[in-house]
Amino acid sequence: MASIILEQLGKTYPNGYTAVRDLTLEIADGEFLVLVGPSGSGKTTVLRMIAGLEAPTHGSISIGERDVTVLPPQERDVAMVFQSYALYPHMTVRENLSFGLRLRHHPSSVIDQRVHAAAERMGIAPLLDRRPAQLSGGQRQRVALGRAIVREPAAFLFDEPLSNLDARLRVEMRTELAHLHRRLDATMVYVTHDQTEAMTLGDRVAVLHEGHLQQVAPPQELYRNPANQFVAGFIGTPAMNFIDGALQGNGQPRTLCTSTLSIPVRTDHAAVDEDEPVVLGVRPQAVEVDVDGQADGADGAHAVVALVEPLGSEQIVHVALDDDTRIVAVVRPDVPVAEDDRVTVRIPPERVYLFRARDGVRIPVATGPHSHP
Ligand code: ADP
Repeated sequence: MASIILEQLGKTYPNGYTAVRDLTLEIADGEFLVLVGPSGSGKTTVLRMIAGLEAPTHGSISIGERDVTVLPPQERDVAMVFQSYALYPHMTVRENLSFGLRLRHHPSSVIDQRVHAAAERMGIAPLLDRRPAQLSGGQRQRVALGRAIVREPAAFLFDEPLSNLDARLRVEMRTELAHLHRRLDATMVYVTHDQTEAMTLGDRVAVLHEGHLQQVAPPQELYRNPANQFVAGFIGTPAMNFIDGALQGNGQPRTLCTSTLSIPVRTDHAAVDEDEPVVLGVRPQAVEVDVDGQADGADGAHAVVALVEPLGSEQIVHVALDDDTRIVAVVRPDVPVAEDDRVTVRIPPERVYLFRARDGVRIPVATGPHSHP
């Protein structure tokens, strides 16, 4: 097993499109690192550069102690698992598992032993004589994983490996991948656009947007302390609410004013000027909805319920603060709330996030010891 170090990695495709910019990232030996971002953010390009399937335009890649930047894939000692499984259709499961080892001329006793160990580990031992066409999607993905395991690589690279599976299987395989990581103690880099998958699997999660690394941190840290508006909006479901506003006053606390709310916040004056446009962020779980419609102090606002999505364990309530401003709240299932109800919305000042409108950079808000629980 080995660490992976990316230094100032960049990729501009021959058509001139720059998919990855100046990416510096150190993945520790044995770490499970998830690369997450929307479609087109450059995740696959990064993974393919680590695998050696794509040549970087700038920067370097080391695996273990070795600089592998210009080495071909077969000399990098990494195993890649794809969304498409990429199994050989004319070979049995046993042949698919052993193919890579046979290519490398391992003795047949070693091959048999590793194939059986991997088949046991992935629960596919009874399927060894079948061909891929005779397997379900979940079984094929297990074979693809098994094929990577038998190689005993320095690192595993996963490209959206679960996205072809149905929801239940996906959750099951996610648990298995987490177990596999613990048992093998292997370095794993995992690409997904699904933030839930990222949050549940990663020791750390690296968020990419338009080829730029936005933040890399453990899942809870990303959720609690997003570095900017993009990360704040990307991590967490339902997504964080954003409302345009401005900071008024030069004293402390200053007043965060939106079209319908005014909330006292304490911020560093150096971070944002008076009246400079800002964006208020608040997670749906932090929005309080009062169904009695009684205004509750200066920071409450009248609103109309636009939509209620009952999910059983909770209700997702969309409220209109005015014609242009809608926010989402997560409300307990027993709260009586229906479309067109008039309600009061309150945003606790200690749950407010603040971003500079011009660049989305997070502005720290001092709210005492219990900020952002
Ligand atoms: P992701 O995995 O995050 O969806 P990709 O790394 O696949 O993103 O792609 C990043 C960007 O690079 C996309 O805009 C994509 O269209 C572009 N891209 C990918 N491969 C090529 C290529 N071979 N030539 C030109 N542009 C490409």
